Amino acid sequence: MDTSKSEQLFKKAQQYMPGGVNSPVRAFKSVGLTPLIIKKGQGSKLYDVNDNEFIDYVCSWGPLILGHSHPEVIDAVCTAAREGTSYGACCEKEIELAQLICEAFPAMDKVRLVNSGTEAAMSAVRLARAYTGRDKIIKFEGCYHGHADSFLIKAGSGMLTAGVPTSPGVPKALVEQTLVCKFNDLDSVKKAFMQSGPNIAAVIVEPIAANMGLITPRPGFLEGLREITRLYGSLLIFDEVITGFRVCYGGVQTLTQIEPDLTTLGKIIGGGLPVGAYGGKREIMDRVAPEGDVYQAGTLSGNPLAMAAGITSLKKLREPEFYERLKGMAYHLTDRMQSSFKAHNLNYSINRTGSLFSLFFTEQEVFDYESVLSCDTQKYALFYRELLQAGVYFPPSQFEVCFVSEAHSLNDIEKTAEEVDKVLDKI
Ligand SMILES: *Cc1c(COP(=O)(O)O)cnc(C)c1O
Repeated sequence: MDTSKSEQLFKKAQQYMPGGVNSPVRAFKSVGLTPLIIKKGQGSKLYDVNDNEFIDYVCSWGPLILGHSHPEVIDAVCTAAREGTSYGACCEKEIELAQLICEAFPAMDKVRLVNSGTEAAMSAVRLARAYTGRDKIIKFEGCYHGHADSFLIKAGSGMLTAGVPTSPGVPKALVEQTLVCKFNDLDSVKKAFMQSGPNIAAVIVEPIAANMGLITPRPGFLEGLREITRLYGSLLIFDEVITGFRVCYGGVQTLTQIEPDLTTLGKIIGGGLPVGAYGGKREIMDRVAPEGDVYQAGTLSGNPLAMAAGITSLKKLREPEFYERLKGMAYHLTDRMQSSFKAHNLNYSINRTGSLFSLFFTEQEVFDYESVLSCDTQKYALFYRELLQAGVYFPPSQFEVCFVSEAHSLNDIEKTAEEVDKVLDKI
């Protein structure tokens, strides 16, 4: 595969941008490659500047549930653009998207639209702190909520010891306000509440974790979080930035009928343009300015292009059997991969739900961050590089999930399964 143009361009990129990228995982560091520079995305395929073609299972890290440059989404964006790209004032489209979102999510009476998932999670936590009059939050090891200071914290050496920042630049005073518990381990949450309950403003969780590979909640875990937060008067925040319109129309809260107090969204709701959202119960959301006293604002929030892409996408998702079809494709693919693993005497774990899946290069059951760390990341990198050569674009990290979109055809799925099998022969 000729990647000379990407290599040339990436040299220039490194001259002007830190690491040559605008978001770290794009640098392909954990798979030991020079990143491809992408020229075009169409349907299920990505094309790099050397015109190599790839079947894409990253889908822009989740937003592109309809695939790349879906004709109806593109039309909607172009039509909107002709009427102006930003008004700095109210527009009808933002009302329409807000209504679609509130109607889809049982626990959302009102929503505030922002520009990214990071902004949504950061604002939801500020609101939870204001509403409860408390400062501490609980997050889970391996869950990602964007890069706001309060979230860049991992567990310390022992349970219940203070957390440690995952990046320099996070103030010590903030580190002390974030407690880190273990996903799928209610006892760790109970202990944190026993120690600091009256000071805990909120528990924030990915109700299906999809940023340490895919990890589903064990029966009782989410129910337990709902119960304990209620008991202590803390808020429960579901970060559904990935899961929101991915696992079904209306997110994990629709699947499980567990209602969080606040929900954060992003990715799919922008149809490939930058949008985030946070919303929840009326009495909490009414604390947001200008109705209430909790400040949060955005120059480009409710942007008409992004709204047009979001509205058009969400309407497509309401078509009958949409999610069943997607799940069918993803399960067909993972069934085939499972057989390939077996045929190669590999007992690797595959986690899957709906159109999300993860291949974990470990024989352990993967149910939390610790078990994710048992993966053979070197082997994954080798697998990744071979698969890329064969024209299949997986996430360039063992710890990211694969996404199937509506644009993936049975042909794409069959070809992917065959290539995976061949790669396993090689490595
Ligand atoms: C992607 C993601 C975010 C951050 O969203 P950005 O738009 O990248 O800021 C937050 N939470 C979850 C669960 C995510 O997957």
